[in-house]
Amino acid sequence: MKLYEVADDVVETDVLVAGAGAAGLLAGIKADDLNVDVAICSKGLFRKSGATVMSTGGMEVAVGHGDPTDNPDVHFKDTVVGGEYINDQRLVEVLTKEAVERLVDLERMGIVFERQEDGKLFQFAPGGAHARVVILGDLAGSHYMVALNREVMKRNIRMFEEVMITNLLMSGGAVSGAVGLDIKRGELIAFKAKAVVLATGGAGQIYRYTSNPVQNTGDGRAMAYRVGAELIDMEMVQFHPTGLAYPPERRGTLVTEAVRMVGAYLLNNKGERFMSRYDPQRMELSKRDVVARAICTEVREGRGTEWGGVYLDASHIPEDVIERRLGVTRRKIMFLTGLDLAKEPIHVYPTCHYFMGGVRAEPDCSTKVPGLFVAGEEMGGVHGANRLGGNSITTLIVFGWRAGISAAKYAKAANSKPLNPRDVAMERERIFGFLGRRDFIHPSKVRRELQETMWNNVGIVRTEDSINGALRVVERMKALELPKVGVPDGSRRYRMDWVEAIEFENLLTISEMVSRAALFRKESRGAHTRDDYPRKDNGNWLVHTVVKNVEGQMRIWSEPVELIKLKPPSA
Ligand SMILES: Cc1cc2nc3c(=O)[nH]c(=O)nc-3n(C[C@H](O)[C@H](O)[C@H](O)COP(=O)(O)OP(=O)(O)OC[C@H]3O[C@@H](n4cnc5c(N)ncnc54)[C@H](O)[C@@H]3O)c2cc1C
Repeated sequence: MKLYEVADDVVETDVLVAGAGAAGLLAGIKADDLNVDVAICSKGLFRKSGATVMSTGGMEVAVGHGDPTDNPDVHFKDTVVGGEYINDQRLVEVLTKEAVERLVDLERMGIVFERQEDGKLFQFAPGGAHARVVILGDLAGSHYMVALNREVMKRNIRMFEEVMITNLLMSGGAVSGAVGLDIKRGELIAFKAKAVVLATGGAGQIYRYTSNPVQNTGDGRAMAYRVGAELIDMEMVQFHPTGLAYPPERRGTLVTEAVRMVGAYLLNNKGERFMSRYDPQRMELSKRDVVARAICTEVREGRGTEWGGVYLDASHIPEDVIERRLGVTRRKIMFLTGLDLAKEPIHVYPTCHYFMGGVRAEPDCSTKVPGLFVAGEEMGGVHGANRLGGNSITTLIVFGWRAGISAAKYAKAANSKPLNPRDVAMERERIFGFLGRRDFIHPSKVRRELQETMWNNVGIVRTEDSINGALRVVERMKALELPKVGVPDGSRRYRMDWVEAIEFENLLTISEMVSRAALFRKESRGAHTRDDYPRKDNGNWLVHTVVKNVEGQMRIWSEPVELIKLKPPSA
């Protein structure tokens, strides 16, 4: 069997990057700086897919312009306290120390952040942290994407647009490449690569309501799991406090934290600023997990709005401030809800936003699988049990950069490994097997049921019973529905239903990981709220949960967190 007989195209490169958000693009740019051959694949359109382009509020960098008492050590402390002490402190150390240098690099690439009149950077305070978020209006994400894509295009980097990586290829225990489906042509590409960087973003699509784009189906985490990488803290899923609750068809769409940063109030149906009961000091700018739980409690106890949310009210803020700081957000909300943020309250409820849990990595972004690197939201451990607003973009920039350098160095030292045509043939059979299956179940049907189940059972608040309910659905779907998921055969170009069928197994894998890890952690910490174990338990649970595929079985265990720099007061 020859490779060309089983793949429609074969591409050879040193470093293959899966994902073209800011993390993937930066990894590609830095690898290219070290003179290795680089290819970047994106399931969606370049510049338009993924979460980075949607990001609004900016990034955390401790330059001390917004608050002279701020510095990287304070940033470290805020991040670890915010993460309820289960962050990997080695990663936080790198994040907070290198952010300042990376900010300068971004400005050199043309991403120039807003200044105060004296030329110093303008910095907002996100929930649970100092005034540290640098901004670019309320549209930072599209600025990052334009500048980084321009940088990529200046270089000799090969870009594969709308190519979905479906599985990694292994040789002698190390990564040797990956298989990709070219969605445009419906053809299979075998990528031969010395190193692979996974940067496919979050997995918000396992939930019914999410701020995440459709591409964020956890493909990278699922592929890493299949080849034996470890994943940590998968129960830690962030529900952003303010997703739209009205209109119902837009439920889950993000309303940026910047609205609260400029001073908007959260009100219940009695007109009370209810955060005074949950965090009287920080009020609306408490940590995200605290605000999300507070909103959930208000609604559960009957103090919600008619649309099952609470009010976010910015009508007391001068209109020129709203226009200057939140102009794009105001117009977006007007378009989606018909309501004017500057004049009337809108209805909000938490929405699945970010995965703190992800592939376990060293500070150089390497994983336990030789040749496999991760960057961006794909990487677990940086944010512990709760991420601070603005700290994700910082993660992309710092670790995207590092992943590119590490992958390039690895590729330079590694020998090219042959691809086994049999492995590619097996993946071809799997992918093309979805087409024309008899008596098939359409992927959208099971996807929606899975999303509803995860939302209801392993959402903001969980119990042993609810999680077990979710696991029963996941097990049933693995056994009964997954083998039947399929789509009609016919033209293979731009078959998004086919893509959805391929994604479904990944969604199931991620749902199982999140559920098993949530069941395992018998305490409440940060974003993980167990109604049956309502207290944080530093005595027993100052640990990472680790998930790994061991001979086809999902194994889970805990490992103590290394408190190398900062300990919780009670430990
Ligand atoms: C609406 C919104 C607003 C946000 N605002 C902020 C903010 O202000 N500040 C902040 O710090 N964070 C913010 N976040 C979070 C932050 O934007 C994300 O965590 C971050 O952008 C993730 O970047 P990434 O590069 O890891 O992945 P993404 O930007 O999500 O990119 C993922 C890429 O992977 C591709 N992909 C997916 N699967 C595959 C596959 N199988 N094969 C090939 N390619 C694949 C996608 O097409 C995409 O190109 C926001 C998130 C959202 C959704």
